[in-house]
Order: sequence, then structure tokens, then C-alpha cells
Amino acid sequence: MSSLFPTYARWNIEPVKGEGTSLVDQSGKEYLDFTSGIGVLNLGHCHPAVTEAVKAQLEALWHTSNLFTLQIQEEAASLLTGLSGLDRVFFCNSGAEANEAAIKLARKATGRSKVVTCLQSFHGRTFATMAATGQEKVRTGYGTMLESFSYVEFNNLEALERACGEDTAAIMVEMIQGEGGIRPIQEGYIEKIKEICQKTGALLIVDEVQTGIGRTGKAFAFQHFNLQPDIVTSAKGLGNGLPVGAMLGSEVLSAHFGPGSHGSTFGGNPVCLASAKAVLKEISRNGFLEEVNEKGKLLLQGLKDGLGNAEVVKEIRGKGLMIGIELKEEAAPYLEVLQDKGLLVLTAGPNVLRLLPPLTVTRDEIQSAANMISGLFAKKTQAV
Ligand SMILES: *Cc1c(COP(=O)(O)O)cnc(C)c1O
Repeated sequence: MSSLFPTYARWNIEPVKGEGTSLVDQSGKEYLDFTSGIGVLNLGHCHPAVTEAVKAQLEALWHTSNLFTLQIQEEAASLLTGLSGLDRVFFCNSGAEANEAAIKLARKATGRSKVVTCLQSFHGRTFATMAATGQEKVRTGYGTMLESFSYVEFNNLEALERACGEDTAAIMVEMIQGEGGIRPIQEGYIEKIKEICQKTGALLIVDEVQTGIGRTGKAFAFQHFNLQPDIVTSAKGLGNGLPVGAMLGSEVLSAHFGPGSHGSTFGGNPVCLASAKAVLKEISRNGFLEEVNEKGKLLLQGLKDGLGNAEVVKEIRGKGLMIGIELKEEAAPYLEVLQDKGLLVLTAGPNVLRLLPPLTVTRDEIQSAANMISGLFAKKTQAV
């Protein structure tokens, strides 16, 4: 019997070593890892520059507390503000904590408590972020939810307009719903959000926990649009496997997050930030994001070419290296078949296969993955 709470439905694979896109299990079988630890290992397993930075920090200083001034926090924060165009950073340990900080700050800064989020969104598992999450299954069984959250249909302009008013503290959205099925936000909806925020004084929180840190071919996915969020949250890819979250906000908000207003014992931990700093430097490298875009297009095209006529495929969509294949049937049974072939992918919702390869994935690896996936579905078409 396991000594762990059975909170996760686990795969029958026990990884022991990773390098780049490659993951090796205890039997020695090698996989192409297109899960990246659920969008975390944006630079792949054991990236040398990140490993070096963490090793050096491990030998210098592990932890001090936020009573001290830490240069590495300033450096990582300044890389984040430079990449995002926002002004201030609060460091924490996870995506849920970053969103939690965002919700607290928005409520404090506006003096209002209503937060509007979207159906099928995912914002985390703490009490506030669970309440913010527009999925019934995440909230079931936990009793009364934190009040003042409401949900609107994603990309429905009228619904958003109806839900927001003078009492709205914030609208919180993902640019591509990740857990909700790799569903991209529409340009017209973005325009509406901007308009409503201007009209009502609500703040715009963009949850970039999954879409950020280069995943979609920009440092942050909101940068694909003409959009200036008040708050952006980041985590997953930020530490490339070490737990780091960050909430980024505009300068006017900093007066509302003064000493004593919020905090975290481990937030801004030097070892984790050594990793984040190395990651941010790497994705800032000249040409890095352009290459993510090119590789994303290659993967999308490879899949479209290979799956074009497959009967079970409804749609292939995504941006950069965040790609979903929506099927007309359940996606889960295909995971194991692909695992046997040596490819690890995820699902997102019941019908979508989700591909989140490391941004460092090679063109050859993209081709093999596209071939493996195409081979799987092509069989079904040939039978016709
Ligand atoms: C994963 C995720 C979260 C939660 O992050 P944790 O680190 O698991 O708390 C929040 N928002 C989005 C969009 C996510 O994908």
C-alpha cells in the first residue's frame, strides 16, 4: 500500500533520468517528453546553464528570509519587468500562490471584491483560486466557496459585459485556456475586456502560469495582442522545475502592497531564483523566441499534414509550442498507446491531446513526434 494520499491518477512509468526532451524510465526505456512536467521544463530536463546557476547558488547561500535584501531577487525581478513591461514583482512558490496574490492585490487596490473569471478556466487549488476556477469538478465537495467570484462563458462578449460593473475588482483570464483544452482567446474579446476595464475601473489579471515564459513564442502570451494588463501571474516554466511563482503588477499598485500586507517564507528563495534568473536570461537570448515560433509552426504543420484526413480529429490548434489536438472521442486512451511508442503527451479536458514540448525541442524530435501521432490516427483512416 502506498503511503501517499491518492490525489493523483498516476501513469505506470517511473522516470529516473532526463536530458533535454529525453526522459528515461527505470527499465531503461527512453521517451520523447512532450509534457515538460506539465509546461514546467521550458528549457528541457537538466538544462546545463540552469543546472550550473543552481549549483553555484547551492554552494553560496540557500535561504535567508525576506528580512534581508537579496540581490538575486532584484536581478530576477528586473528580468521579469523587462520582458513583460510591468513594473513590480512579488515572488512566491506556485501558480496558485501567484494568483492568490493577484486576487488579494486587486481587491485591496480597488476596494471591491468581485472577480469575474471564465468557464473552463483553471487558476489553482487554494481556496481563492479554486473559487476562481470555472470548473465544477475542481470545486466539488469543498463546501461554501469564497464569495464574490462569478464565471462567464469564454470568448462570449455579451456575457462578460453583463457580469462586470462598478463593483468588479478584476477580470481574470488566460490567453489560451490550458487545462480547459488549449482554447485560445479571441481578438474581439480582448478588445471588449479592455473596454470594460476602462469603463468600470476593474483591473485586468492575465494568468500566464501556463502560457508564459516563452511557451507561445512570446515571453508572455498577452504580448501577441495590443493589451496592457494590470497584473500578470507566472509560475510553471519560470523555475524550469524548481518551485517559483511570480505576480507582476503595474507601479500604481505598489502602494497597496506595502510592508506587512502580504508575504511568503519561501517566496524569492535564492536557489529557486538562481534557476529563474538563468531561465529568463536564456529566453531573452537573441533569436530564442523566434525559434520557438518556427518550431511551433513546424509541429502544427507536421500534425496538420499527418492528421489532415483522420476521421477522429476535430481540430488542431495552438500557438508556439502549446498545441492541442481535439478529438471527436476521449483522448485519454491514446496516451498509453503513445507511451508504448515512446512519446509522452498530456490531455486537456476529456477530448484534447495536449503537446507541451520543451522550447529547446529539436526539429528532428518534432518530426518524430508528429510521425508517431499521425501513425496512430492514420491507421483509422486507412481502414475506411
Ligand atoms: C497550473 C496552473 C495554475 C496553478 O499552478 P500551481 O503551480 O499548480 O499552483 C494556475 N493557472 C494556470 C493557467 C495553470 O495552468
